Amino acid sequence: MSQQLQRVVITGGAGFLGSHLCDRFLAEGWEVICMDNLVTGDLRNIGHLVGESRFHFFHQDVTEFIHVPGKVDAVMHFASPASPLDYLELPIQTLKVGALGTHKALGLAREKGARFLLASTSECYGDPLVHPQREDYWGNVNPVGPRGVYDEAKRFAEAMTMAYHRYHKVRTRIVRIFNTYGPRMRLNDGRALPAFMSQALRGEPITVFGDGSQTRSFCYVDDLIDGIYRLLHSDEVYPVNIGNPNEMTIKEFAERIARLVGTTSPIIYKDLPVDDPKQRRPDISKARRVLGWEPKFDLDTGLAKTLAYFRERLDAPLAKGPRG
Ligand code: UDP
Repeated sequence: MSQQLQRVVITGGAGFLGSHLCDRFLAEGWEVICMDNLVTGDLRNIGHLVGESRFHFFHQDVTEFIHVPGKVDAVMHFASPASPLDYLELPIQTLKVGALGTHKALGLAREKGARFLLASTSECYGDPLVHPQREDYWGNVNPVGPRGVYDEAKRFAEAMTMAYHRYHKVRTRIVRIFNTYGPRMRLNDGRALPAFMSQALRGEPITVFGDGSQTRSFCYVDDLIDGIYRLLHSDEVYPVNIGNPNEMTIKEFAERIARLVGTTSPIIYKDLPVDDPKQRRPDISKARRVLGWEPKFDLDTGLAKTLAYFRERLDAPLAKGPRG
């Protein structure tokens, strides 16, 4: 009997994380169905996969009914605007893809008897009062603030995922993703790393929000993807943090990037966005225990790889799409 290909549906597959997941599943020998409505995703992220017979692109809004012919073994729900700037510009779409999109993606998994993995977020912890953040912390989220559209959509998505697990017995997994960086981040998505790198490369002032004392912990994309791939294959139903616990202030992060790029750009300070979390660091003891996972890339290595990508993109302005 010939061995059947494993098939995965990846929503948000043309986005930053989704496109890296497409690469990983293809490398593992799977057939990949990549879905994206290209609101924040970008075809250039998957351009190198055109012509690969195991790769298929569906231009689809996953808040509408999803139909996929044939068998499906796994559904990875990664569609969502994901940077603060994007979800402030697209508040309704953000709520819809977290709520209706998760419902549709779960419906597809149930129909196909597939595993389901939800891309959730450290934003579920809001402006956390517990540090570092463990999975059993319920968070400190402002539902009516500007970030609420993302935070509450993802919290709803987690609740919906658990309901499908408990009521419909779908084999579900939930990853809580902490700040991740790497090639294919959008230059103008408003996040700290693309902002700082493109400012440093263009010789523009580096914009630190607030006094820069707020902290984040940055994980290189390949590490994250490896954690997610392991989680899909594990039996863990409850959320698992995947991130790099290497915490630093945003001011330190800006200085680090400025040094790496070798810029003389000054750091300038701008207003802190509403509800910007003051501190964030994953407790990854659960990922270590249940997945045998921990990050391998240190910041210097990850930043150097990312910088190479950003340099290339900034040198190719004619290839720019509508959202940068
Ligand atoms: N930030 C900044 N300057 C920028 C963009 C972001 O100082 O140009 C800060 C932001 O206020 C936050 C941190 O960097 O404290 C990380 O922001 P990002 O948007 O990357 O992700 P978040 O963790 O807030 O979702």
